[in-house]
Amino acid sequence: MGDVRELRNEPTRPTLPYGRQSVTDEDVEAVAAVLRGDWLTTGPAVRRFEEDLSALAGGTPTVAVTSGTAALHVAYAATGIGSGDEVVCAPMTFVATAATAALRGAKVVFADVSPETGNLLPDAAAAAMTSRTRVVSAVDYAGHPAPHDELVKIAHDGGALLLDDAAHSIGGTWQGRPVGSLADITTFSFFPTKNLTTAEGGAVASPVPDLARRAAEFRNHGLVRDKARQRHPDEGGWHQEVHEFGLNYRLPDVLCALGSSQLRRLDAFRARRAEIHARYTTALSDVDGVRTPVTLPGADPMWHLYPLRVLDNRRRDLYEHLRANGIGVQVNYVPVYWHPVFEDLGYRRGMCPNAEQFYAEELSLPLFPDLSDDDVDRVIDLVRAF
Ligand SMILES: *Cc1c(COP(=O)(O)O)cnc(C)c1O
Repeated sequence: MGDVRELRNEPTRPTLPYGRQSVTDEDVEAVAAVLRGDWLTTGPAVRRFEEDLSALAGGTPTVAVTSGTAALHVAYAATGIGSGDEVVCAPMTFVATAATAALRGAKVVFADVSPETGNLLPDAAAAAMTSRTRVVSAVDYAGHPAPHDELVKIAHDGGALLLDDAAHSIGGTWQGRPVGSLADITTFSFFPTKNLTTAEGGAVASPVPDLARRAAEFRNHGLVRDKARQRHPDEGGWHQEVHEFGLNYRLPDVLCALGSSQLRRLDAFRARRAEIHARYTTALSDVDGVRTPVTLPGADPMWHLYPLRVLDNRRRDLYEHLRANGIGVQVNYVPVYWHPVFEDLGYRRGMCPNAEQFYAEELSLPLFPDLSDDDVDRVIDLVRAF
């Protein structure tokens, strides 16, 4: 608003972010308690956080890792994909969903998304599959679950696994089943703008015992400690051995304690996010030139983003207008294959027209639990006036 700009004399600097963590004294105390204890990493707070996440995901075994990107890298490693394999991937996502598959040497094949939700279209995924497809990667865009029942069938019919990049959607459900239990392997992110935070952090959940074990090993150098599985079990009590290369993606106790503390407020986060989402939709659904997000039957989303659609080529103008007024709007996302790294590999614009149209119209309005009704109304007034 004009007065804020004059006060700060910084006309283009956003004063209201599009996403932000919610950290309480209780969270701070949980972290401080770990810092005063014996285990900064590989200790009991890791196990507790993994159990908390697993409970949230309907009992699906879960391992904590250092970021959502690490979670994707671990998940692809667990599936064993490499060069010669193909991954069918939704393009309406952060680059990491595809980049981590490419880093394994797999070929990423993009399949188009629903014009309504931005989620992978089952028909497009089916059409993109070949005999080399090993993984289908869906994203629960903005927190709205993808149609995992259909996608899992398509993946399995083609001899592939379904991966759910649930960086946006932890805490949501699809057809009454929790995110984390809907795909063969699911990844979470705990970056500060996401639905809960550990500063940096992520997790991998899988109901498939072999995938869960491989994920746990890959994030810890590939070390095998189980004597029954070792090639040289008589070496001595200290012995552990590597069967496949891995990395150190362990999330420390310090951050896991923050995660467990945050999880206690996840229901409150979801309720407040839903309230703000509804406030925007009520106020903007009758405005010409914009479209508000839809919720499909069967979905109970945990809204991470409020993806407003701005029609008539006016998205950029509205973005500039809101930014100039101190509202930190974002655009999620440029279609992944528009990144020069994919252009240089021969990917061309026009491949996924729905995703490109979605991108052209999309503008994420501020959405986070500590956002006040007054701030929401300020954003609404600016959009309506525009
Ligand atoms: C945030 C995000 C990631 C990456 O998570 P980080 O924790 O930032 O590494 C991956 N996929 C999607 C869809 C995301 O939104």
